[in-house]
Amino acid sequence: MQIKLAKKYGFCFGVKRAIKLAEKNPGAITFGPLIHNEREIKRLEDSYNVFVQNNTENVQPNQDVIIRTHGITKQDLKTLQEKRVKITDATCPFVIKPQRIAQEMSEKGYVVVIFGDAHHPEIKGVMSYSVSEPIVVASLEELQKLVENGYRLPKKVALISQTTKQTQKFLDIANFLISHCYEARVFNTICNATFDNQEAVRELSSEVDIMVIVGGKTSSNTKQLLNIAQLACRDSYLVQDEKDLNPEWFIGKSVCGIAAGASTPDWIVQQVCNAIENI
Ligand code: SF4
Repeated sequence: MQIKLAKKYGFCFGVKRAIKLAEKNPGAITFGPLIHNEREIKRLEDSYNVFVQNNTENVQPNQDVIIRTHGITKQDLKTLQEKRVKITDATCPFVIKPQRIAQEMSEKGYVVVIFGDAHHPEIKGVMSYSVSEPIVVASLEELQKLVENGYRLPKKVALISQTTKQTQKFLDIANFLISHCYEARVFNTICNATFDNQEAVRELSSEVDIMVIVGGKTSSNTKQLLNIAQLACRDSYLVQDEKDLNPEWFIGKSVCGIAAGASTPDWIVQQVCNAIENI
């Protein structure tokens, strides 16, 4: 089996930074999983005694707390500050940007429209910075349906995006708002790392017989990569690690493309490559 790696894949700047901060703070807790990759989280537990805590109530005063790459809500941050814990902020700067825009634009009277998944921690955090109720839509279709069902779009809106969304889909929503609102301000908050990884998958998936995307199953950017790969290569699969590989996928195939989400460490990608070579 010939293996082709995507031109860009794996750990992004924000994740590398967060992991370095965790390694420099042994014994700390991370508020929420630092990144969306279970095996890397386990490595930090085993080697650095850095554990995940999901509830601010369980955080003890004076504890070292690392804030995950996707950020936390304004309320949770306030609770931690009131507990006087030592905070190391690993929120990715690409996530801080939409948080700030949400706050500034809502304070100026714009209704913030977020293209994203309302249940994702990053979006929960961004929503908490808007001083008025934001609108969260996962697709253009969802926005159109809202309007068809009688929702009256505000006069002034400010559009931002979850950092991991696809640019074209963001532009479709922007076009809709521009043509339906009196004033629509558009802020591209999709991060470069996501964009570069997506373009690399788009290119590679049209050159191979099978695509394997390596990443956490709860990782939004990894799922986006799978969706993009499936457009050009029907036989595209998402695996967390080499144990998820199914030898039957490779029957009759000769070239396998491999890409990885922004929270996938190189050592897992390498293990997947080795396992595919031995199929
Ligand atoms: S994918 Fe982008 S936004 Fe998310 S941590 Fe990486 S650099 Fe930051």
